[in-house]
Amino acid sequence: FSLIDMSLNNRQASAAEKIQKQDLRILLKLSPFIKPYKRIATIALIALIVTSLSFLLFGQGIKLFIDEGIYTLQNNQLIIIAIVLITLVIGTFFRFYFVSWIGERVSNDVRLAVFNHLLTLHPHYFEINRSGEINARLTTDTTLLQSIFGFSISMALSSVLLFLGGLVMMLITNLKLALIVLVTVPIILLPMAIYGRRLRALSRKSQDTVADIGTYAGEIVQNIKVVQSFTREPEESIAFKNEVEKAFSAAKRRIMQSSLLIAAAMILVFTGLGAMIWFGAKDVTNGDISAGELASFVFYAIMVARSVAVISEIYGQLQRAAGATERLLELLSEESQIQPPTQAIDLPDGSLSLNFNNVSFSYPSRPQEKALEEISFKVGEGETVAIVGLSGSGKTTIFELIQRFYDPSNGSIEVGDLDIMSLDPVNLRTNIGVVPQQPTLFSANVSHNISYGDPHANAEQIKSAAKEAFALDFIEKLPDGFDSYLGEQGVRLSGGQRQRIAIARAILKDPSILLLDEATSALDANSEQKVQEALKRLMQGRTTLIIAHRLATIMHADRILLIDNGRLVAEGTHQNLLASSKLYKRLCELQFNH
Ligand code: ADP
Ligand code: MG
Repeated sequence: FSLIDMSLNNRQASAAEKIQKQDLRILLKLSPFIKPYKRIATIALIALIVTSLSFLLFGQGIKLFIDEGIYTLQNNQLIIIAIVLITLVIGTFFRFYFVSWIGERVSNDVRLAVFNHLLTLHPHYFEINRSGEINARLTTDTTLLQSIFGFSISMALSSVLLFLGGLVMMLITNLKLALIVLVTVPIILLPMAIYGRRLRALSRKSQDTVADIGTYAGEIVQNIKVVQSFTREPEESIAFKNEVEKAFSAAKRRIMQSSLLIAAAMILVFTGLGAMIWFGAKDVTNGDISAGELASFVFYAIMVARSVAVISEIYGQLQRAAGATERLLELLSEESQIQPPTQAIDLPDGSLSLNFNNVSFSYPSRPQEKALEEISFKVGEGETVAIVGLSGSGKTTIFELIQRFYDPSNGSIEVGDLDIMSLDPVNLRTNIGVVPQQPTLFSANVSHNISYGDPHANAEQIKSAAKEAFALDFIEKLPDGFDSYLGEQGVRLSGGQRQRIAIARAILKDPSILLLDEATSALDANSEQKVQEALKRLMQGRTTLIIAHRLATIMHADRILLIDNGRLVAEGTHQNLLASSKLYKRLCELQFNH
């Protein structure tokens, strides 16, 4: 009955999987992940065969115990039985250890392969695939593989061995009884297997409701300040109670069904055992077989029945694993749309110019809409050019294209007079430093976040970068200085501080080309001045493109590009544009008056 419990409490099914029939052959495609551990797999296989054989032999020991009586057994018979038992114990240890080892190793290797592959994928992939789904593949799907390799396959193999061995031993022990059992066992097991499958569907539904609870609570916890500020705690509590009750009633349906199944199984098994013993006992009374033979026969019969049940249960697990494998392989075979050319050219050292030739571009998720249309401009070596335009006009998109997160649909972009399509994206990005509008920090300390610009930088270099970014003052006031933990995405810093960390990061990277996206709202007057100073220093001697929201920035620029609706509508100095462009004049009045 523990087996039934096991199958009912199996909670590995993820809410995402809805695959009904799966071709199990797909599991074979995971063989490259096992190949490196062939030796360990062989040891595990040998241990598995040895334990199955000793278990089969033990049935003969039962016969001896009963027929000869334990006190009259000869010494060598006792020794053999002891050896069989010791082999069983040692073999089980090795089998359990190595099989579980392979399960853990393989699932972690798959995790690593998936993560490494994710790192190479084009950003558009992450716009179509939700992060929750990707996470589920890295955790739930790989955990399913772990239980398959670390448990199910070995259980299935040993069950097949025990089934075949037990069957042979039954036939040898008593042909007539064996035939009776062979006819009745399927009659008992078949309805239970069908019923068990129905129960699994119920149990999956119950798991889905538990997953819903998690999603709901997660969202509330993330937005706790909104909940509290609107004093919606009582309503949220009631809504959550609804989710919990849904999960409970789904679980109630499931446990009712499984209790019934266990009771039915007990009736069937007791009836079957009773019938077997009744027929067998008759033969014992008639002297056709010995009591020991009957006992060992029952032992083998239970073994065979149990093996059948295990195999049918594991078949369901393998199907789910096949679903998980399919999803993982699909992710692993996803090709990045941003590919390096077969023969990449290296960018030269020193300053680099930047060139847009007739660039048009639509985001893959909005192919109808042109985010950029026939844009051409040039930024000479060491020059600073400002980009201005209404929100949504395409300014940030220009930065994305320069870093080759997307490829333009028309036209070309040149860096240092080389088409960026002829460069390795890694080489291109090493030469570009970006300070984004909303700087992204990692849940780590200050040093880690600054040295993201150059992982080889020493403490001295990190400190001087922080100083140049006007960040040293506030960093030294933090409780642990450069070792201060910044919280998830740097929540423990103000917007202006975060931005100065991002500037320090760019200073440390020391790139030839700078892309700056000015923050508008994050800064107060005091930190704005500091950030301005930091930026001014950073821009010196570098080719700089800066998305400007402040008049001060525009004044520093050599030239200004005015973008409207994805088009470059005007280009020139501040004075020029004021005189020639109505849009620019309006922008200045609306946005740059602080
Ligand atoms: P901004 O000038 O404010 O920086 P953007 O370059 O960010 O404007 O955006 C230009 C246009 O492209 C906007 O209409 C925006 O909605 C759209 N856009 C930006 N990012 C994406 C994306 N990843 N997928 C689809 N459309 C996008
Ligand atoms: Mg923007």
